[in-house]
Amino acid sequence: MAGTCHDDGVAHTSASAGALLRHVRTGRARSRADLVALTGASRNTVSARVDQLIAANLLEEGGPGWSTGGRPPTLLHFNSRAGCVLAVDLGVTSVDVAVTDLSAQVLATAGHPIDIAEGPVPVLAEVDRLSQKVLAEAGLTPADVCAVGVGVPGPVEFSSGRPFHPPIMPGWHDHPIPDSFRRYECPVFVDNDVNVMALGEMGIGGPVQDALVVKVGTGIGCGVIVDGRVYRGAQGSAGDIGHIYVAQPDGRTVVCRCGNENCLEAIAGGGALLRDAVAAGLPVRTTREVVERAAQGDGPALELVRDAGRTIGTVLAALVNFFNPHRIVMTGGVAQAGAPLLAGIREAVYRRSMPLAARNLEITVSDAPDLSGRLGAALMAIEGFLDEDAVHQVLAQ
Ligand SMILES: [Zn+2]
Repeated sequence: MAGTCHDDGVAHTSASAGALLRHVRTGRARSRADLVALTGASRNTVSARVDQLIAANLLEEGGPGWSTGGRPPTLLHFNSRAGCVLAVDLGVTSVDVAVTDLSAQVLATAGHPIDIAEGPVPVLAEVDRLSQKVLAEAGLTPADVCAVGVGVPGPVEFSSGRPFHPPIMPGWHDHPIPDSFRRYECPVFVDNDVNVMALGEMGIGGPVQDALVVKVGTGIGCGVIVDGRVYRGAQGSAGDIGHIYVAQPDGRTVVCRCGNENCLEAIAGGGALLRDAVAAGLPVRTTREVVERAAQGDGPALELVRDAGRTIGTVLAALVNFFNPHRIVMTGGVAQAGAPLLAGIREAVYRRSMPLAARNLEITVSDAPDLSGRLGAALMAIEGFLDEDAVHQVLAQ
């Protein structure tokens, strides 16, 4: 079987220890024989690597499997209790921290109100306090932590874990967030909240190969899932759909906070919804009030939300033609409006997308928007820890 060769000259084929572990974790293989069949590698090679994974406590073997004849194979299991990860969902006004096992099962969780604008030092001190609290509650110690995943409400340079000029996080630019988890002596992964939620939605709704997770809050952002993984693009800004130009039927222009005219979020984001509701004479002070009125069936609010849905839908229709996802999941505060938003989006998407691309497309609202941030942070940490190269390093120790 052909393998790819990295710069260090080490061959990583689909029969690497990390790949074998992934096959067992995802249920594609249940025995050594399955792994041989899946990878095409020799029985000896597979057995040696499985033995290494068992010695590292990542795999367990036991219990006879079902056989079509002859000796039944012994089953392999992923040992999801071999360690734990910390999952941090940092929002603008609150932070939630969970400790999960290596299958992203939540063992303990805790949250606290914060103000992200207070800056990294006090906020990360609170995260540290909550981390110690959940570990103690789960009966674990810092030495059990294999990786940390953190979602933040702003752009992040993924490779360094440093926020990059985040508009609603004053004082956080270039702050090395991973340094505040030094006591755990493990890898720390930091990404923007939309990418993290996108991973979480794959955990909640079941994994699909290709999906878009669209967050409509004050701004509008999109997490792009390609082949089951977050696609970040060359500089990590893939999915920043909030500033795509949208033509207005009445020819009006709206100036966006980025300085350009007629950006998607300046027309259909939460701030725009509130602005238009106030202009229409609705007695509302927050976007949440507009969304609540729409969800309760208030006519004018309903129409505003449906209009926002249509505008978002015209952009999504172009993305559907370009990307052909299996699923689009809507999340964020405005998505809580539910049916009227979806109606507007579906109307535009099905009218403007190519029939083949839209034929089996699901468009839904998140089932668990409060959980997706924590679950996604846990999955990001687990995937990072059990990445093929990382497993290779763990076994080499
Ligand atoms: Zn803009």
